[in-house]
Amino acid sequence: MSKTSSAPGTSVAPGTHTLPSYLQADKLGPWGNYLQQVDRVIPHLGSLGRWAETLKRPKRVLIVDVPINMDDGTIAHFEGYRVQHNVSRGPGKGGVRFHQDVTLSEVMALSAWMSIKNAAVNVPFGGAKGGIRVDPKTISMGELERITRRYTSEIGIIIGPTKDIPAPDVNTNEQVMAWMMDTYSMNTGSTSTGVVTGKPVDLGGSLGRRDATGRGVFTVGVEAARHIDLDISTSRVAVQGFGNVGGVAGRLFHETGARIVAVQDHGGTIYREAGLDVPALIRHVAETGSVSGFPNAEVIADELFWEVDCDILIPAALEEQITAANAGRIKARMIIEGANGPTTPEADDILQERNVLVLPDVIANAGGVTVSYFEWVQDFSSFFWDEAEINARLVRIMREAFAGVWQVAQDHKVTLRTATFIVACKRILHTRQLRGLYP
Ligand code: NAD
Repeated sequence: MSKTSSAPGTSVAPGTHTLPSYLQADKLGPWGNYLQQVDRVIPHLGSLGRWAETLKRPKRVLIVDVPINMDDGTIAHFEGYRVQHNVSRGPGKGGVRFHQDVTLSEVMALSAWMSIKNAAVNVPFGGAKGGIRVDPKTISMGELERITRRYTSEIGIIIGPTKDIPAPDVNTNEQVMAWMMDTYSMNTGSTSTGVVTGKPVDLGGSLGRRDATGRGVFTVGVEAARHIDLDISTSRVAVQGFGNVGGVAGRLFHETGARIVAVQDHGGTIYREAGLDVPALIRHVAETGSVSGFPNAEVIADELFWEVDCDILIPAALEEQITAANAGRIKARMIIEGANGPTTPEADDILQERNVLVLPDVIANAGGVTVSYFEWVQDFSSFFWDEAEINARLVRIMREAFAGVWQVAQDHKVTLRTATFIVACKRILHTRQLRGLYP
């Protein structure tokens, strides 16, 4: 990482992070990547740089024990987190992830990226994120419901429609949101639909929310393609992760005529030179849980996924997938980050040198939270919009936000990631400055 010089008025020089005692410097994980990304923006913050340290510390971290009765009569304990990174611009907002490898560092980074993302598309939220260390594939529906409900009760002291509003993320879905909404409502004594977003439509959810993140990925992809003279309708696309985000983005690209030549998920990697039958693949994943075993496709080694001949690469699974080890082999002209944090700062530098355009997570996957914002607004007013209106508003916000970021990247001669951080951090820190420090 290149060390940057101290911005005027910054209390701690970039690159010399004062770490909280609950993190270990040699095991910073995704939070370390986030800190490096913040360092790259500090030189561009001008006088607001004096507030920059606020971006390097989550406002609130809650770690909870989640004990439940298992079906076999034993009692199991799971570790749960809810982190509120910054709430200067509004209540915390961000998903809940159920995954066996969830760590505090990961949830902290994901909460910080939510602060940046929400400010980048200018929705009135701060950043938050939650997670439980559990592999939902190994437990029953009843156990999943009990974990969800106990976790919701435990974090109930800091969430709420005007405080912090969870949403789905990896391995959580509309049903999990329904249980969270019900649990919070039972504990507070009245039905509170606005406490979570990504709910079923019959429970105060919004039309268009399920597809929103993938639609946002597609929308910024189309906008960026114009700038680099890439014809989407004849392009070759590779997608990692074929869940909510990757599946929808893959479908929308496929509908333009683009060929989805490779897809990788936790079960393996499949390839088809002529393009995969995406609607059939979506049905296959819904029935079997993975892309593996899909007929009419070759199985290739997972590692070969990164060197597949394609124009557009969409990482839509987990963090730290594109690293210094594989960034040099990527053939795509454009990477659209559906996942949060899929590219390490070292890989970013390699891709920039190789002239690969990276549309960063903090703008590219903001479609989900944008429609979550619509859902929250609709819940407050109990007045629901039709899907055409939601999609039109989503596309308008994504296009305008992306155009603004593109312009900042040109003006400052920086990557789109740093440009998005410039736009977002200025908004967050300006709000911080206006509010001042309490007391
Ligand atoms: P999901 O659970 O619906 O899908 C996750 C996908 O990743 C699955 O296809 C899974 O098989 C795959 N995967 C898991 N481990 C893998 C591995 N080791 N290698 C390859 N593939 C693997 O989750 P999602 O909601 O689609 O989220 C995917 C990413 O998008 C996450 O980074 C998430 O934070 C981000 N994101 C999601 C939303 C949203 O609205 N759901 C919004 C913004 C960002």
